[in-house]
Parts: sequence; structure tokens; C-alpha cells
Amino acid sequence: MSKLSLDRILQSQGFGTRKYCRSLIEDGDVLIDGVVHDNFKETLETDGLVLTVFDEEWVYREKVYIALYKPANYECSRKPSHHPGVLELLPEQFTWRDVQPVGRLDHDTTGLLLMSDDGPFIHAQSSPKRHVPKVYQATTHDPVTPELVAQLLTGVQLHDEPGPLAALTCEQRAERQIEIVLEQGKYHQVKRMLAAAGNHCAALRRSAVGGLTLDALGLEEGEWCYLDEAQLALLA
Ligand code: URA
Repeated sequence: MSKLSLDRILQSQGFGTRKYCRSLIEDGDVLIDGVVHDNFKETLETDGLVLTVFDEEWVYREKVYIALYKPANYECSRKPSHHPGVLELLPEQFTWRDVQPVGRLDHDTTGLLLMSDDGPFIHAQSSPKRHVPKVYQATTHDPVTPELVAQLLTGVQLHDEPGPLAALTCEQRAERQIEIVLEQGKYHQVKRMLAAAGNHCAALRRSAVGGLTLDALGLEEGEWCYLDEAQLALLA
């Protein structure tokens, strides 16, 4: 349970600067239970608070945990250079809240991307010590061979790695497609592993992180949703 003044509440939820949040409140743009609250000093219990701002409902969330089905041609970087950043796919409030991707997907990779404004959560999830399996469908340039699959399972040596990296599982799914599960999160790992095994990645999609799958989330490309505690537990 925690109480905060209305202007701080709005600011914490990403509605802008304190000054701007105060102006929203004083202009009567903030409602709670259908009633305008125009005193920015009013203190309110944040647990279970639902604000209506410009006719849109916002449930108060101390931190946000988001799953995005990332489309191709969006960058995960905070300062995207060649393509729009993934934050453009989310409401503006999340930029103000400093929501960031948990790890990275390449600009041309599609699929499940976690995002949050909870620093320790991002840090813990991105730690190299974590071995949460990540499931990818890779379309290959050349046909998949049993040797390719065997190599990916045994391990391939990447340029700047101390030892070979192996897939947790790897199965051929079509003439030019594999499903590969990795427990590390090295830079361009799937693409580099495929190249090291003598093939090339033509397209890449991440369908799951731990037990959290795009299918279960029911997201279409470009869509996002909040994650609840049960869904976050699937990342453990
Ligand atoms: N491996 C890659 O090569 N690219 C990604 O985006 C994710 C994993």
C-alpha cells in the first residue's frame, strides 16, 4: 500500500513532466470513478487505482512488464539509427516511463520481445548467468541437412567466444527451416551459429522465452500486452 499525490501519480505513470501533469489535473482532464479530481496535491492510495485521462482508462502500475510481438524493421536500440525504435509501437507513456527492451532482437528479427521499466528485472533477465531457453524459428538460405542440425547440437565455434556454443535443441521443420532453442543470448547468436555451420539465416522469429510463448499470448505482429505475475513466473 502506498499513497502519492495525484501529480506524482500521473508523472510516475508516464503522462509527462510534473508541470504538465499538474496542468492536466487542473484542466479537469483526470477522472477517478467518473469524478474529476482537479487538486494535484490530493493524495491517493495507488493500489488498484484506475485513472481516466482524456477518456482513456489507466490502471496504476508501479512497474510495467510488457510482451511485444516485434515486427521486422524496428530497432531495439534506445537511439535507433536506421529504422524506427520498438517504443514507437507502444503508447507514449511507456517512453516517459523509460520502458526498455529486455535484451535485443536484431532489426530484421521478429517475435517475442519483453520490455519493462523495472531496472533490476531487466538486469536479472539479461544476465549471462541466466539460462532461460529462447525458441527461434530460423529460415535458412540453403536447405537444412542432418549435418547442419548435428553441428548446431554439438556446438560451433564463434569468432569471439572462448568455447563452442551449442543449441539446447534443434529440429528441422521444413526444407529450409529449423527450430532452434538457445540458452545463451549472444550477439547475433542464431545467425552466427548458422553461418559457422556453413548455412545462412534468411529470416528469424523468436516464438518463446522460457515458458512464455507468443501463441499463448495470442499476439499478432506489432501487438503488445501487459504480463501478469503468472506469466512472469514462466520466465524463471
Ligand atoms: N540471434 C540472432 O542472430 N538474432 C536475433 O535477433 C536473436 C538471436
